[in-house]
Amino acid sequence: MEQTILTIFLALFAVQFAIEFGLNELNLRQGASSAAKNWIPDPFRGIIDPQDYAKSIEYTLTNGRFHRWSEIYGSAILLLVLLSGLLGWIDQWSAHWASSFSFGRYGQGIIFCFAVGVIFTLMGLPIELHATFGIEAKFGFNKTTLALYLSDKLKALILSLLIGVPFLLVVLWLMDIMGRTWWLWAFGFIAVFQLLMIVIFPTFIAPWFNKFEPLKEGELRERILALAKQVGFQTSGIYSMDGSKRSAHSNAYFTGIGKAKRIVLFDTLIEQMTTAQGLAVLAHEIGHYKMKHIRSMFLVQAVFLFGGLYILSFLVNFAPFFLTFGLTPSSHGALVLFSLVAGPFTFYLGPFMNRLSRKHEYEADRFAVRTLGDGQSMEQALINLTIKNLSNLTPHPLYSAYHYSHPTAVERIAAIRQLSV
Ligand SMILES: [Zn+2]
Repeated sequence: MEQTILTIFLALFAVQFAIEFGLNELNLRQGASSAAKNWIPDPFRGIIDPQDYAKSIEYTLTNGRFHRWSEIYGSAILLLVLLSGLLGWIDQWSAHWASSFSFGRYGQGIIFCFAVGVIFTLMGLPIELHATFGIEAKFGFNKTTLALYLSDKLKALILSLLIGVPFLLVVLWLMDIMGRTWWLWAFGFIAVFQLLMIVIFPTFIAPWFNKFEPLKEGELRERILALAKQVGFQTSGIYSMDGSKRSAHSNAYFTGIGKAKRIVLFDTLIEQMTTAQGLAVLAHEIGHYKMKHIRSMFLVQAVFLFGGLYILSFLVNFAPFFLTFGLTPSSHGALVLFSLVAGPFTFYLGPFMNRLSRKHEYEADRFAVRTLGDGQSMEQALINLTIKNLSNLTPHPLYSAYHYSHPTAVERIAAIRQLSV
């Protein structure tokens, strides 16, 4: 049985690896051939500075080449952890530690989950460090100092202890005492927890990492407040964030539900844009709110969660699942193992979620253009954002369909132009 499970897992793992590696190769080739032909898509032709264009190609290729190695590295680490018997060893070690501190069974579960988390975090460090201090710095984006990087890591650790540990304890406890229907209880708990996080994250957690301030006095603020009032968005929920503290990349987002909902514009974005462009971006974010996009994303994720827990409710009682990867059956082992081996099965959901997200982007664009009665500013905002962020102008269609949570600027502008006709 174990042999069969291992074979199925490895086969699907290889399929996933081949697809992801192959898509990256296609994208790299597309980038190189666009550069060779100096092919610039329509809305950017004659607008993008040749130097910026060359730089965006270089940025795309550098990231793609690095992605080759990070893909190989990440896969090798995962296989090593799963197949070397390391998990079983950590489990015994956790049991030993838990008993010497009289922490009991739940203590073992927490130590085990935490130790596995630490291993993957440490193993991911070289990738993250090179991406931030190597590539991003080389292209002038990185503003993160080593001190800030370390303090971010420390804060993340504190959060995982403050929030992650109690969360895990409740799930392990439900698995323990609720009998066969534990997964339904866990589903209810996790769904409520996620809703709570949608409220807590913008109001309590994000401000720990960044400064959020009301927009500065001026024309943009006046026009934004007028627009917010016109479409019924509470104006107290509009903030500027010091994104420039970490990176020169610019962005804006809508988050939260109920009273905790807010629109955040990065200071980098406000600086780069004209008032009309900034207003278009804000109208787009209000569009996400008006079209209830946070709610639909939450509901779709809840369906996946329900399915995942249902499957886990079988696996937790299926000893060969554990034995294949060197573990003895346990609730905490099931949680960790499930999350580690799920990739080759769930990665097909990624493109689906991205497709939904891209649909939301088109809807928010449509809302913005119709509300402002102005497609031009939205177009210019998109062009501006794309150029400043050195975004890839010509990603391979399969690559963007799979990976992109936002349609490309070219696609969005085409959709906007159709609206005004
Ligand atoms: Zn959006």
